[in-house]
Amino acid sequence: MNPKSENIVWHAASVTADDRRRVMNQQGCVLWMSGLSGSGKSTIARALENALLQLGHAAYVLDGDNIRHGLNADLDFSPAARSENIRRVAEVAALFAEAGLITITAFISPYAADRQRARDIITGTGSGTGGRASGRFFEVFVNTPLAVCESRDPKALYAKARAGEIPDFTGISSPFEAPASPDLELPTATMTVETAVRRVIGHLEKTGILTTKGEA
Ligand code: ADP
Repeated sequence: MNPKSENIVWHAASVTADDRRRVMNQQGCVLWMSGLSGSGKSTIARALENALLQLGHAAYVLDGDNIRHGLNADLDFSPAARSENIRRVAEVAALFAEAGLITITAFISPYAADRQRARDIITGTGSGTGGRASGRFFEVFVNTPLAVCESRDPKALYAKARAGEIPDFTGISSPFEAPASPDLELPTATMTVETAVRRVIGHLEKTGILTTKGEA
């Protein structure tokens, strides 16, 4: 998105991404978790954040419900508001990644076009991003069948949605466009939280996001 005013000029930092990487022993990135409500995004995100901190890495979770209490408190679940929700989250995640954090986002993010836009914002490849960000982006599909999510129903939302009390509920009355080629897939119906966390950390090691002192 371009600024409304013409008199806004981007100010580049003098600290480089490499400087941050050396100090933090990691490269900032975004792990974009998407999946149905109850699929396990928040649970895995929190466990992952914990595990990374215990390994001495700086990670931070941006969680859907929490962001809707503040920055996005003005947005509902209509398609337009869902898109705006994801756009704002992507902008925040891009800044966090630039600051060097392993940024874990836990949002249903049901529309493929919105996830692509998030990728564009974070990697700086989209139109209107002006090449500001050049972060690493990994799409993580928390792939859990609707029936399993519904049987878990951790927030009793499916029961309400089935009773017609929640409009636009993903999987029931609003679509979920499954990621076609995610960087990682976590099938939580058959994979424990611990295994999912290990799988993600393995991916971060393999892709050079995590480094040890003196290696970066
Ligand atoms: P979401 O953030 O995707 O809405 P939550 O993490 O809030 O989902 O809820 C997922 C629920 O499923 C939690 O109650 C969690 O304990 C449970 N669960 C059971 N097995 C798993 C698993 N393998 N991975 C993640 N969550 C699981």
